[in-house]
Amino acid sequence: MRKEGKSAPWQKMLGDSVVSAEMLGQWFDISTEALAPVIRRYPMRINPYFLSLLRQSSDPIARQVIPDPRELDENGFTQEDPFFETQRSPVPYLVHRYPDRVLFLVSGQCAVYCRYCMRKRNAGLKKTVGPLDVEPVEAYIRSTPAIREVILSGGDPLLLQDDFLNDILSRLKSVSHVGRLRIHTRVPCVLPQRITISLVDILQRFAPLYINIQFNHPDELTGEAANACAMLADAGIVLGSQTVLLKGVNDDPDTLAALMEKLLACRVRPYYLHHPDPVKGTAHFNVPVEKGLHIMENLRQRISGIGIPHYVRDHQGISGKMPVSAKPCVQNGNRAFDDCQGL
Ligand code: SF4
Repeated sequence: MRKEGKSAPWQKMLGDSVVSAEMLGQWFDISTEALAPVIRRYPMRINPYFLSLLRQSSDPIARQVIPDPRELDENGFTQEDPFFETQRSPVPYLVHRYPDRVLFLVSGQCAVYCRYCMRKRNAGLKKTVGPLDVEPVEAYIRSTPAIREVILSGGDPLLLQDDFLNDILSRLKSVSHVGRLRIHTRVPCVLPQRITISLVDILQRFAPLYINIQFNHPDELTGEAANACAMLADAGIVLGSQTVLLKGVNDDPDTLAALMEKLLACRVRPYYLHHPDPVKGTAHFNVPVEKGLHIMENLRQRISGIGIPHYVRDHQGISGKMPVSAKPCVQNGNRAFDDCQGL
């Protein structure tokens, strides 16, 4: 097996990323003065592969990764951690929000930094776990039999070194009450070169392993991304997609229908369409619930049921993502959409 070293092509691509306003200004006609303070607050990383997908600074792919001065405006979104993940962390790097599953935030690094990220407070700012950090997490999971599933998230778990990722997965797999492992990642979409034969060789040892990949636009499903998905699917890994509904990126039925069709062709089952979370610095990506419902209705009329994702949104104080449905309900005398069923 090839050892991943500093010279691995995907690592070299990360090292060649656009990370400053000055670098970005070499590619696009942008105001470096306006963007520099945004980047100081929320880091930017656009790796050369993803940069190659950008046509202009305002296209739907670019909007996801090019900083916007509106990130420094609250516009009603005042909380960096609206779902209180920090308070629901019994040991560092672990979030225990739902009884039967935990989130292990293994990495503070991503292959790109998405401007709408629900963990914008961490992306590019938190350190990645080391071996000593894994031990208390493993001990907590071992001592909590209700935990049936561990989800590696971050940042992006697939930016860890192969050997370390193998070590983490092995430790978790050895806990008898943990029945399945899941990885949340954008890497097959934003840095498909990271899906190497050696990485797949490691991942396939941990069946049943579920990988949810975030794809937001059909143009992200390039030949390289499709090949990365094929390598994972061929290895028996169950692939699902998570898409974030984003203003100016994919908030129209044609775009999302094309995305879902392409995902199905790549053996990635559409899983979630996330309504945007109310995270500080992301208000300019927000979409009205009514528009999301309209898009879902349109998708149902034109795509097979296997291509229809669950339209969900997260709620403060509720233990779980809740489906957004069109059934109207009345709260405090106001008509509202029933995105709170299960309360
Ligand atoms: S890859 Fe995921 S964790 Fe990283 S910035 Fe994008 S949405 Fe956030």
